[in-house]
Amino acid sequence: MPAPPDTPDLLLAGGDVLLHDGEWRVERVDVMVREGRIATVGKGERPSTRLQVRDCSGCLVMPGLIQAHVHLCQTLFRGLADDLRLEDWLVRRIWPLEAAHTQETVYWSAMLGAAELLLGGTTAILDMETVRHTGAAFQALERIGIRAAVGKCLMDAHPEGAPLELAESTDNALAEAEALAKLWHNRAGGRLQVCFAPRFVPSCSGPLLRAASDLAERFNAQLHTHAAETIVERETVLRTTGLEEIAYLDSVGISGPRAALAHCVWVDAHETARLARQGTTVVHCPSSNLKLASGVAKIPELLAAGCRVAIGADGAPCNNRLDVFAEMRLAALIQKPRLGADALPAGRVLELATLGGARALGLEAELGSIAPGKRADLVVLDLREPHLHPAIGDPVSLVVYAACASDVRDVFVAGKPVVLGHELLTASLEEIVREADRCAAELFRIAQPA
Ligand SMILES: [Zn+2]
Repeated sequence: MPAPPDTPDLLLAGGDVLLHDGEWRVERVDVMVREGRIATVGKGERPSTRLQVRDCSGCLVMPGLIQAHVHLCQTLFRGLADDLRLEDWLVRRIWPLEAAHTQETVYWSAMLGAAELLLGGTTAILDMETVRHTGAAFQALERIGIRAAVGKCLMDAHPEGAPLELAESTDNALAEAEALAKLWHNRAGGRLQVCFAPRFVPSCSGPLLRAASDLAERFNAQLHTHAAETIVERETVLRTTGLEEIAYLDSVGISGPRAALAHCVWVDAHETARLARQGTTVVHCPSSNLKLASGVAKIPELLAAGCRVAIGADGAPCNNRLDVFAEMRLAALIQKPRLGADALPAGRVLELATLGGARALGLEAELGSIAPGKRADLVVLDLREPHLHPAIGDPVSLVVYAACASDVRDVFVAGKPVVLGHELLTASLEEIVREADRCAAELFRIAQPA
């Protein structure tokens, strides 16, 4: 929905603006925002009499950062599931906690996660919720102002990968996903979308995966799942389907530009070539892959093969931050011991968190760079802190290797200020933290660790 006509234009003035035209470059220019989109990028233009000017001198104005794999429903589980490998982490902690969720706890979990994301410069996400109460997550995100494609987690009866308390019948899972799409897809001026989110192959029957792919096609929405996260998963899929995981997902329609596959740590050269051919997005989650001891995804090899790659923090209980700056820094660093110091340069990593994320959301024409016509999802980074000086070098190096979430001063989503001067404008942070703590204690009481 365009901003009401009486909304004044917004001018981000005097900042160093991070632009991308094949390569990153910085120019000291003004960014004019009109009706939720970037109108002009240039110098000295003040055409409107009704103009709000935000002084950005001493700051870097950059595209809003995009995380293409998060689970907001798990934010309340932060610190409740440490030091476990994926399979134990799911069975002993995450699934019982997800099963204990109520509408209220899903709502505050989403508010807490989205507050952390926005305050840290993430303006758009691809989010996988749990099986129930996804409408409550949408309500939270409608209020707090982040851009999101949200999927109810799909899990139908399967002997190894769907616990009884979460598994649904195939028909019920699909019917609810479709109902959510009818209610929420392209709401809030397109800021909210659905995605269709089968948890992972071991949780899902073939018919469920195929039908999720058909629904994504019908609603013109994205598909969001996990793939090839651990060696155990890879072997389970091979044993139960007779196919390698990427080939199996392709056989049920979970592939191509609509599909975002989180992790892909355990894919061979053959599968890498297949992912590149399909135009499927791989979502790299370096902290989560390290913390759950899953491995290191071969991102330089995936990029060299022509794969689309985005980045994400995954969930709070496997990270335990939702900090895109931490993910970018780690993504760059973890490849270096294996492949050399130039394995994944800072500029490439920043592309994963901007243009790569935009592609994962199917919004490459709308998001991911500062250019006239694109949605005004913008971040203003305060460069005054000592860890960002001397500021004479490459600004992209500052962003990827030195900046942190707390350097984010202002955040705009579709031109609307959501964070100004490090303060969240759309909800009370005090209330969010209080309610989140109360809800987490309730969940922890119901779902004691096994
Ligand atoms: Zn995940």
